[in-house]
Amino acid sequence: MTGRLILKRLAVAALADMGAVLVALWVRRQELRICKLGDALSDDELKIARLAGVQFPERVRLLGVEEVPFPFDRVTKWLAPMIGHFPSRALGLTARYGIYLQSESRWNVELLVHELVHTSQYERAHGILRFLRLYLRDTLWNGYADAKMEREARDLSLSALRRRGLKSIPCSKAV
Ligand SMILES: [Zn+2]
Repeated sequence: MTGRLILKRLAVAALADMGAVLVALWVRRQELRICKLGDALSDDELKIARLAGVQFPERVRLLGVEEVPFPFDRVTKWLAPMIGHFPSRALGLTARYGIYLQSESRWNVELLVHELVHTSQYERAHGILRFLRLYLRDTLWNGYADAKMEREARDLSLSALRRRGLKSIPCSKAV
């Protein structure tokens, strides 16, 4: 690795770690809100969650909202040149066990699997802060579209659709 690349890696890591600290509290608050107001998974959704790799699907809650909230819109816009296209108006957002779904997309299986894969990534990371550090490093380094954690969510949601004989309605606006 060249000196420039090493410096870039260090800068990305520092930025991601700082961002993770800023966003972690917000994510925890959203998770508490969704877990208070949201719906538990149906039997079918529990099966989907297990296939998406979620270890404790009974903890997951879904909350339909008109507009999916997003942390620090200004910061995200500022980072846009680095992370490339990042959906500003997301159809879904996962705060560990709490999942926001835009009301009209409440029954979109592809979107649900995508978000559940993020829940599973939170579990594997063993905590909100650790997930966010990994996620932000990944998206800042590779860009949102090519981030490994986003690719995993997209790939698993597509294979879940295929198993059900459903066609993909591209939901690039899943965060
Ligand atoms: Zn995603």
